[in-house]
Amino acid sequence: MSEQIERSLVLVKPDGYRRGLSGEVLRRIEAKGYTLVALAVTTPTREQLAEHYAEHEGKPFYEPLLEFMLSGPVTAAVIEGQRCIEGFRALAGATDPTAALPGTIRGDLGRDWGLKVQQNIVHGSDSPESAAREIAIWFPAGV
Ligand code: GDP
Ligand code: MG
Repeated sequence: MSEQIERSLVLVKPDGYRRGLSGEVLRRIEAKGYTLVALAVTTPTREQLAEHYAEHEGKPFYEPLLEFMLSGPVTAAVIEGQRCIEGFRALAGATDPTAALPGTIRGDLGRDWGLKVQQNIVHGSDSPESAAREIAIWFPAGV
């Protein structure tokens, strides 16, 4: 395997932030061996979220997702490391926190709350293209 140093955009979503899980998520990222290259606590705007979740516009969970993401601050981080995009998504676990395996962030710390959107603690970019796009949304001044 060749060298493939990547950056990924990670969010601790409002449920995770409210529950005081930002430190736990960052601890797992650092314990895995990835580097934190930018970190911020920020309250998202609807415009930011519409850009961030553009691929989901029109889906049934889109509006509940935006409402949920607008419900409070998030912790935003840019992480760096060899194949960290795939690696963080493995740390995060499956989208549905009930199905996410124990050992993962969503599997260990998340559950179904019977709401219209899956409140699943974290977001992680899904490709280098998404990462570049998302980093510009959450860190507009540059990293
Ligand atoms: P992710 O990349 O694992 O975060 O998942 P997606 O990009 O597919 O979806 C974005 C976010 O929308 C997820 O993290 C969930 O919070 C929410 N979501 C995705 N799919 C569903 C769904 O089928 N139902 C509900 N209620 N929420 C969903
Ligand atoms: Mg996604």
